[in-house]
Amino acid sequence: MKIPFWLWLAVGLFITLASSALKMKLFIWVGLLFLAIGIGKMVFEFIFKERKPKEKIIHQQAQQRYYYCPRCKIRVHVAEKFCRMCGQRLR
Ligand SMILES: [Zn+2]
Repeated sequence: MKIPFWLWLAVGLFITLASSALKMKLFIWVGLLFLAIGIGKMVFEFIFKERKPKEKIIHQQAQQRYYYCPRCKIRVHVAEKFCRMCGQRLR
């Protein structure tokens, strides 16, 4: 089950505030733990989202350097004039 970071932060904040209002010292630490997990997940998601567009650019560049043989459908480099699998002339 995937719990979003803002839910951890919201629950953590709620437990921290509620337990501090009720003067339950043990639950303040539980609330802070939830907040720490929420912050950790937020940082992780931020790094993960930052990396994704870069991977897409690399993938697009790789696609531009290759195309597929019309006869046997294998991936062929654009510099090759003949398919290395079936010998089909590519251009
Ligand atoms: Zn081929």
